[in-house]
Amino acid sequence: MNTNAHYSPKEALEYLLAHGAVRYSKDGQVTHLPCSLVPWRPPQGFVGETEDISPLYTDLYHKVAQDDDFLHTELEKARKADEFIERLFQAKAKEAGEKPSLYLNRNDCMPAKLPDGTHWPKQVEMNLMASALGEASSVVFRMHRFLGQHENIRLKENYAGKTLARALADGYRAIDGKGVILFLIPVGEVSVFDQRILESRMVEEYGIPTVRASLEELGEEGELHGGELYFRGHQVSIAYFRAGYAPHHYSDESAWTARNLIEESSAVSVPSARTQLANTKLIQLVLSSQSVLERFVSKEVAQRLARSCVGFSKIDEEFTDFEGRVATGREHALKHPDRWVLKPHREGGGNNFFGARLVSKLESMTSEEADAYILMEKINQSVFDSVRMVEGQAIPCRCVTEMGFFATAYYPGPTSGPDFNRAEGYLLRTKDESMDEGLVLGGFSFLDAAVVI
Ligand code: ADP
Ligand code: MG
Repeated sequence: MNTNAHYSPKEALEYLLAHGAVRYSKDGQVTHLPCSLVPWRPPQGFVGETEDISPLYTDLYHKVAQDDDFLHTELEKARKADEFIERLFQAKAKEAGEKPSLYLNRNDCMPAKLPDGTHWPKQVEMNLMASALGEASSVVFRMHRFLGQHENIRLKENYAGKTLARALADGYRAIDGKGVILFLIPVGEVSVFDQRILESRMVEEYGIPTVRASLEELGEEGELHGGELYFRGHQVSIAYFRAGYAPHHYSDESAWTARNLIEESSAVSVPSARTQLANTKLIQLVLSSQSVLERFVSKEVAQRLARSCVGFSKIDEEFTDFEGRVATGREHALKHPDRWVLKPHREGGGNNFFGARLVSKLESMTSEEADAYILMEKINQSVFDSVRMVEGQAIPCRCVTEMGFFATAYYPGPTSGPDFNRAEGYLLRTKDESMDEGLVLGGFSFLDAAVVI
């Protein structure tokens, strides 16, 4: 490939630093986020469909999260096998009556190569919690637009940072918020800058006050007065989680106290415990069947969503593969480890098992432990050329990618339709084909921008 065609790393670096697409490095320095130096050319139809199905997924998950019977039935075994899920059920049980629901989601899809050679979005996962890097991915889109100003390239617009801020502000107004938006942040977070921009937008662009805290701080200092949540003298109208998706974010009981306090109070939790339960991988597995989808959405929508799903299997239940072979998920995956991903009920990246690690994990897993995992068919992509910039250096690479549209919505009550439900702006994470996981902050992938085809 012609690697001279990409933008100058120095110019790209300066743009990222000037606009805050940065992170802390291990030694406490500030460095740029990895990004592409050439935009991605998506296959025909992929971007439009990924964008269009994202609000449909938000609506689906909203309905699933309100369905207590469904959550309890489908997660009954998982909560026995997985303490984290059990704790979320305990938090849900504290819920104070019916509350509005506010979502700042991201629907991650990959351009799967179909047998006929065309490409179609297949969902990796829906994120209903702590959907990050909206601000940084808008900066990378703007960087490409700026550096390519004299070239004849049209890019898919990406104002994800603004979109997320607007949704948070619209939600605050819809609930007639009188207090603060509480940003819940993990201790030692390296990606604070993305959150800092969102937080300052609240104050500067919308006049909405904010406070930051860790879950532990809220657990120790949070108080309930007349059903309202107070923290350091401020009433909390919205508790916005950028922490709380991983067990290590609950370092002691005070973090769970915080989670329970939010549920017990009138504060709107983004997301609520019930939404987080709906967001487990096991529920994603159950929802990949058209008949289950039809329980929540119309037949047409169910068909469309089912088309975006790959095959899933529980570890010790039977699964029929595309060649018609019936075997347990475990048997299929041990026979063809390159065709499967083994996933625990965890969010935040770096938890999944691929290839040889999948094999050794499955070989040693008891049937009780297996209830805490699912198997998902690996999405097969066409590899393309790109150039990434890491630590200021341009590195040509053979890549695959993952695109997630941010989808925001507000529902005044559990059974009401949405006041708004929209998809605007995206996170595009491209990575070297040799990488299994896709975490930008884990150094696995880099931020990218999409060309309009
Ligand atoms: P997490 O909740 O940790 O983000 P994901 O389900 O998004 O978990 O998986 C993490 C990463 O692993 C994804 O971003 C993607 O790069 C890779 N991955 C997950 N599922 C698949 C799959 N079915 N096919 C190919 N890659 C996958
Ligand atoms: Mg993910």
